[in-house]
Amino acid sequence: MSRFLSAQHKALVPYTPGEQPTGRQYIKLNTNESPFPPSPHAVAYAAEAAKSLELYSDPTCSALCEAFAKQCGVAPDEVMMTNGSDEILYFAFLTFCDDRHPAAFADITYGFYSVFADLLHIPYTLIPLREDFTINPEDYVSLGKTIFLANPNAPTGIALPLDAVERIIRGNPNNVVVVDEAYVDFGTESAVSLIHKYDNLLVTQTFSKSRSMAGARLGAGIGCKSLIADLNTIRFSTNPYNVNRMTMAAGLGALEDDLYMRENCRTIVETRGLTTEALRRLGFTVIDSATNFVFAKADWIGGNDLYLQLKERGILIRHFETPRLKDYNRITIGTREQMRTLLLAIENIREALS
Ligand code: PMP
Repeated sequence: MSRFLSAQHKALVPYTPGEQPTGRQYIKLNTNESPFPPSPHAVAYAAEAAKSLELYSDPTCSALCEAFAKQCGVAPDEVMMTNGSDEILYFAFLTFCDDRHPAAFADITYGFYSVFADLLHIPYTLIPLREDFTINPEDYVSLGKTIFLANPNAPTGIALPLDAVERIIRGNPNNVVVVDEAYVDFGTESAVSLIHKYDNLLVTQTFSKSRSMAGARLGAGIGCKSLIADLNTIRFSTNPYNVNRMTMAAGLGALEDDLYMRENCRTIVETRGLTTEALRRLGFTVIDSATNFVFAKADWIGGNDLYLQLKERGILIRHFETPRLKDYNRITIGTREQMRTLLLAIENIREALS
């Protein structure tokens, strides 16, 4: 820490991203990236856009907003594109939270919510998940707070049905409800269909997972026109060129190739089913997942032990050392081949212990 760090940030604990190793080649099942490359359309468009990098990107992001809005069945002024969905979430904290509008979210959910709140000095309430890691929608009704709801939730992978999400939105008419749909394409019903019914709903989505574009950093917010206008005021006061030219072009290419994304999601969902069954056969408790990862614990090995032993064997999974999560690991669904290697490694570890 330097002598110059503002006193207001001295206690800030930053978000810890999953490992992104640069040396040894690992099978990476730790950060919920897609095992498939981006659409060839996305790659070709990005390469073409790279030829014009001397120019700023379009601050209105109009072509991409139009294409994304069309895909969502909404109007272009009901969407905003951002530098990953982390940025739209950050903008949502900046735009809709303060001392009089504190935040509320689950005690077990995406780790960035509390980091953003701490960074911006926004008070927040943690709402405990039930013992089985599910959300009780009634806990969120009439909270009088800006609500951040990951649906499906992370790292549990559990989804709330749309009627329960709607109950929460309807139950907080005077506060914004942010529904973070980073993993929605792996089998959850989206709340986008509700944005014309509720002016307090902001849905966030990402191109990082189902569209294989984590490295491009492209996210989006979908909400009524006035919410998006407020978010744009903040965006234009922060970084109007938040989506770079190559990413903008890649996003357009990816949207053109929707079938490619759907096929990849179908494969991942299939592999998720097979992996869940295989892990259960190996003595794991695996939570039924609606995402591109599974959350699992074994009674024959601790969460951290399994993480370390797999790392030694060249496989990275994600471990969280917090009291309610420490027995579990979050395992991203990779290719069939990668999952076969993982399961074989787990079998070997179990044999060595018996
Ligand atoms: N929300 C959730 C629930 C996530 O797990 C992630 C991925 N870490 C994000 C948002 C942010 O993803 P990105 O910034 O890559 O769009």
